[in-house]
Amino acid sequence: MICFEFNSYFCTLIFFCKMEKHELYTISFKGLSFGAHEFDWTIDGSFFALYEMSEINDASIDVQLTVVKHTRFLELNFVFDGWVELSCDRCLDPLKIDLASEARMFVKFGDQAGEDDSEDNDVIILPHGEDQLDVAQYLYEYAHLSLPMRRVHEDDAKGCSTCNPDMIRKLEQYLVEENRE
Ligand SMILES: [Zn+2]
Repeated sequence: MICFEFNSYFCTLIFFCKMEKHELYTISFKGLSFGAHEFDWTIDGSFFALYEMSEINDASIDVQLTVVKHTRFLELNFVFDGWVELSCDRCLDPLKIDLASEARMFVKFGDQAGEDDSEDNDVIILPHGEDQLDVAQYLYEYAHLSLPMRRVHEDDAKGCSTCNPDMIRKLEQYLVEENRE
């Protein structure tokens, strides 16, 4: 299960700052009938460029969101499928990797708006009467949580690194010089 840390003040701030930019990703659940509803987007580099801290430089990710409206809460199931481009941790050249993941969160209503960590699942609490949710922040966070820990160009069939050799030479040279000092 994917969980993410949530600093309620900070995230609320981001949530409201991004709100206007992300009308496209705003789910209006007041008009939804009970049951499942599907939303589809393709998020690309321009989506991640809106976030200063984004580690994703370019992307093409098909996102399928199924919103299931229950009597007292909403269930949101996200499916991500596509690719992202990051910087290689070793040579800094672009590194393209496939991304496929799923995430689930629940939206409940209460007096204490924010996140509820008392259960295993990601639960957000919206104030009573709120009838919209901008999911852009969650798309951003879930995409980043799906990234692998190891982000380097893979070795080829002979076991040789496929990193940018010029950059590796420069780095090695730099390390040698640094050790001499
Ligand atoms: Zn590399």
